[in-house]
Amino acid sequence: MRSAPLCGYATEPHTRPDCGLTPVVAFGATRLCASCAARRSTLGKGQRPRPLQAPAVDVLTWLAAAERDLRAARHALHAAVRRARQRGHSWQVIGDQLGISRQAAQQRFGQHCNQDLLDGLGPWGV
Ligand SMILES: [Zn+2]
Repeated sequence: MRSAPLCGYATEPHTRPDCGLTPVVAFGATRLCASCAARRSTLGKGQRPRPLQAPAVDVLTWLAAAERDLRAARHALHAAVRRARQRGHSWQVIGDQLGISRQAAQQRFGQHCNQDLLDGLGPWGV
């Protein structure tokens, strides 16, 4: 299910607590709700605002969609790490790709990958 378009500041509740979430106008690729459009400074200068007819954003629907997206991303991350291990990449290389240490990568993902070894898949998927 595809999420409804959001105001460009919807993911910044700390700086834009009054954001209405539902975009009503676009400046180029940036969509803004009425509140954020009223507060804009230089954004869109020289660009004509384009009115939008976006469906209203329900925050609880957005919340559920964010949770689904998070689970899918977590699943993809674990699968990618497992595949990298099956192809013989070291924890150091995996950690480097994730911006964490070798030890942190192994602690975070090692238990799942070690299960592959116990299941007889071997580190190279054979
Ligand atoms: Zn907004």
